[in-house]
Order: sequence, then structure tokens, then C-alpha cells
Amino acid sequence: MERPPVIHKTAQDLRIAPNLLDYDAECRTFSWDEARKALQGLPGGGLNIGFEAVDRHAAGPGRDQVALRFVSRDKPAQDMSYAELARQTNRFANVLHKLGVGKGDRLYVMAGRIPELYVAVLGALKNGTVVTPMFSAFGPEPIATRINIGEGMVLVTTDALYRRKVKQLRDKMPSLHHVLLVAEDSGVTDEPDTLDLGNLMAEASDSFSTVATSPDDPALLHFTSGTTGTPKGAIHVHGAVVTHHATGRYALDLHPDDRYWCTADPGWVTGTSYGIIAPLLHGVTSLIDREEFDATRWYTLLQQEKISVWYTAPTAIRMLMKSGAELASQHARPDLRFIASVGEPLNPEAVWWGKEVLGLPIHDNWWQTETGGIMIANTPAFDIKPGSMGRPLPGIEACIVEHLEAEGEPARVRVIHEPDVEGELALKSGWPSMFRGYLNNEARYRKCFVDELYLTGDLAKQDADGYYWFVGRADDVIKSAGHLIGPFEVESVLIEHPAVIEAGVIGKPDPVVGEVVKAFVSLRDGYQPDEELRLSIMAHARKRLGAAVAPKEIAFLPSLPRTRSGKIMRRLLKARELGLPEGDTSTLESGA
Ligand code: ATP
Ligand code: MG
Repeated sequence: MERPPVIHKTAQDLRIAPNLLDYDAECRTFSWDEARKALQGLPGGGLNIGFEAVDRHAAGPGRDQVALRFVSRDKPAQDMSYAELARQTNRFANVLHKLGVGKGDRLYVMAGRIPELYVAVLGALKNGTVVTPMFSAFGPEPIATRINIGEGMVLVTTDALYRRKVKQLRDKMPSLHHVLLVAEDSGVTDEPDTLDLGNLMAEASDSFSTVATSPDDPALLHFTSGTTGTPKGAIHVHGAVVTHHATGRYALDLHPDDRYWCTADPGWVTGTSYGIIAPLLHGVTSLIDREEFDATRWYTLLQQEKISVWYTAPTAIRMLMKSGAELASQHARPDLRFIASVGEPLNPEAVWWGKEVLGLPIHDNWWQTETGGIMIANTPAFDIKPGSMGRPLPGIEACIVEHLEAEGEPARVRVIHEPDVEGELALKSGWPSMFRGYLNNEARYRKCFVDELYLTGDLAKQDADGYYWFVGRADDVIKSAGHLIGPFEVESVLIEHPAVIEAGVIGKPDPVVGEVVKAFVSLRDGYQPDEELRLSIMAHARKRLGAAVAPKEIAFLPSLPRTRSGKIMRRLLKARELGLPEGDTSTLESGA
């Protein structure tokens, strides 16, 4: 279907006045020092994420507002107010303190979306303890590797996860002094060499003075998704809270009465920055659903829980698309006013599907584990150009650069000022949530910076209106007969075909043209993977992309390999195609 290149917003689209209305003016007047003034700060000038997220509200008029609302299939919903969250996090901070766990020590959390996880993360932050979230679906090896490289001192997990995944390697984790277990069902855990968190919490005082942390003190250690290789540990500081707040305001448009739902797994940076911290900073109510993806359940939650702002990911949107428009139409969403997505490129088809089927376009935004917060976004007041990640938020200066020498040391780059030219996306360093190091890899960290610019490793272009367009990861770009082909462009065209729900594109070495484009596609229900369909998809791609860019080969897969944060792992498609070692697969979704 032919669609216009721009979705223009009308006053009707903006159900309430957006926080970011005059983009140019806001960019001109914005300063991070001013942005910090929206937060309270600790007495004596410090800054602490946990304090700003919880205690600031618990001591004010928002104390009885629901901070976190936990829902699951088999238990009644559980609401935790800001005041209660303050008491619980104080208890947890006291538990740590009593165990001798202090500022700068490292705590790992690994659990589903249970209240104890949120309490542990925020309580540890208040104690100055550095937090690392892990996916609860990780196997024993990835868990032990991460705890060892980060010298984790404390692990908070459930008794069931401990028995299945940690116990057998416990003696291989010499830094791990304390394991605090949540008894999943009622009762007390009795595993040797562990402590029962419920007991410790019951004995602890519920008053605590947040440890004096400065904006430069480490707060979080996040591992990257492992899409392009072995996950890297990115170190973040308490000062990041200023970005979390500003981006919650601009990119998620949080208003005090919002009911917000972030679907990201708490093991991924999005699950922390925007699944825990940003909504609390804005004093809103966050829905936390313990269950995994289920289209009917999700539509029901959006409706029943009166969600107004929803932050999700392309992979989830594609799964909703797969479940069909009919299901979507069986549920009303009168409260929903803003949908945003992050994690990988959002195909134009998905943006339009949002508009046509959900009644709201989906607003793509871009960031990385390393940036700590949203950098480039489509905000409610922006017109959307489907396929574009939007524009840099106030306080963020982005540009496109070209490398002057491929292998030069130190690297030299030139900023490309002309529009529509592809190059590496770079950000002027200095925003508060910028990572401060890769764990145990100073050389790699330094390589990311050239002349005050942070090089993201992503290729993109900027158009004349200042919108950024994702082309592909530098590692994924295909070089074919003198053309540079971004997989995203090809994948977006493939999923326009009515049979294709998901596509991953790689370059396959070829003696004549360098690389040929090969596509892997998975199909919507009701389509047969046969020759006729292959030719039909091929013809569609050739018509839209031309013969030089369209895939030469198309293979059908029941589903594409994905990281646990939902990203298509093109490097794995390629390794499998070429019969090469698969490399680090610790973040691979099981069964993929
Ligand atoms: P690794 O660095 O270990 O390979 P990763 O880069 O996937 O993993 P994350 O930090 O979780 O780990 O993901 C950030 C990356 O995800 C970005 O660099 C970009 O490639 C991709 N990404 C995120 N959001 C978007 C978006 N809106 N559009 C396109 N790509 C995106
Ligand atoms: Mg990365």
C-alpha cells in the first residue's frame, strides 16, 4: 500500500499538552545544569538515583500514590505506594549495611519481575552499592562469567533460580560472599550458604539515610545485549539520573497522572533505566507484569490497567502484528495516548500498523547500553517519518562522521554536514548518563572517543530536517558490487510483503561482487514456505529496491535468532550460513 512519507500530528493527536512542544526553543535553552534542578539532590550536594526515584516522592504529597503495581496470572494485583517503597528499600539498604556491603560494592540481581527485585535495585542504589541486573533466563555459565568479571559480592535471586542455575557453580565465584534468596512461594528458604531475604527484611529497620553518593560515583553496571559479540560491561554513575529524568519528560512524555507500562525485561538496560528509574522519577504509577508476552493478555492489560504511556520494542510489536488486527480490535484503549519503541530498528510497516490498527503511530527512539538513556527520539509533538529514529533530544548533540583512515591510530574522523549521507552516528560526549568505562577494558572504552565525540558503532544518516535514519550496525553493513547496503532498508521492504512478519539480512561472501545479500524471513500464520512465495517476495524486493540491493537469496526460518532483549542476531545468521563458530551465545533467546 502506498503511504505518505510523513505522519503529521494534529491537535487531536495530542490528547494532552506534550512536555516538549517547541523543539528548537527547548534545544536552544536547555542545559544539563538546569535539568538537574528538577531533582532534589542529597544534603551536602550529592546525587543518588534511589533517593530521587523513591524518597523524594515518599516525603512529599505523592507518598500515597501507587509507585509499582505488580500483576500476574495467579496472584491478586499488588500495589506498592511510594511511601511503602521507601520503607522497603530502606529495609533492604539496612540488610546490606548489616552484611558489610557498602558503597562501591557490587550487587547482582536475577529474578523475574517480582517486587523484591525492584526493592533490591533501589535499596542497593540508596546504599551506594553498584547494581547489575541479569536476565533470569541466563544459564549457569553466563551468570558465573558476569559475576566473576564484575567481582559481584552479593546476589539477589529466588530459591528456584538458585537451585537451577547458581548452586552448581557457586564455588567458582570467589567474590560472591552473600546470596540472598527470595522464597518464591510462602515460607523460608533453607539452602546452605545462602540467606533468606524475607527474614533479613523482617528484622531490618525501615529507616535509612541514603549514603552520600556524588554524581560521579558508580551506580549501575550493565552488560550490553551481545548482538554483535561478547557482551561488554558498561559502567554508569548516579549522575545518570538527570538524563533518566529529562528523557522521561521529553521522550516518554511522562505526566503525573500517567499509568505507564514498560515491557522490557529487567535484565536489560531498558528494564532498569525506563522499567524502574524514569517512571519513578516522575512520580507516576508503573505497571509490572510478571508474565511473558501473550498478545491477548497484553491487549487486556492495556485496557484494564488504563495504560496511558507504553514503552515496548519492535520484536513485541511484530508479535502483536502477527496475532492480527482482529484481536487488537476486540479491546478498547481509550486511555492510551503514547506508544514508544526501542531496541532495534522499527520498520515503517510497524509504525503504520500502530496507527492503523492500534489507533496511534509507534514512536521509535534510539539509544544504547552505553548511552544510559534515550538520545534520539520521536516525541509526541513531532511529525513522524516512518523508518526514522527521530531527532536528538534537547541536551544531545548528534552528528554523522566519516572515518578518515580506516585503521588509523588514533582514529580521525570528519563530521559530515551534508544531509542524507551515510556515516557513523556520533554523539558529543558529556551527557550525564554516558557510560564511564567498559569493565576491565579501558582500551576498548578509549577507542569509542575521538575529539570529544563518542562513536556509537551504528551507521545512520541525517536528513535536511534533522531526522536521523538508522542504516545498520557498522558490523552488519553489506558491501556488494561497490554498494553499501544497510540491512534495515532491505528488511523493511521485505516485511511489507503480506506473507513476511520478520526478516534478517546478511552479506554472504561472493568472489565476484564481494558480498551478496541474503535474507532470512519468517512468515505470518497461514503462509506456506514454497518456491512460489519465495519468487513473489523476491519480485517485491526487486521492484522496491532494485536488483543491486534486493536479496539474491531468500531462506525461510520458523523464527529468527534473537537476543533476550529481542534483537535479531544477524551475526548468528551469518555464522550459521557460513558454517563458522557461533561465538558468544549467552544472550541468545532459548530455542532460537
Ligand atoms: P552488543 O553491543 O553487545 O553487540 P547491542 O548493541 O545490541 O549489543 P544494546 O546496548 O542493548 O546492545 O543495544 C544498542 C543497539 O541497539 C544500538 O547500538 C543499535 O544498534 C540498536 N538500536 C537500539 N535502538 C534502535 C533503534 N531505535 N533503531 C535502530 N537500532 C536501534
Ligand atoms: Mg552495542
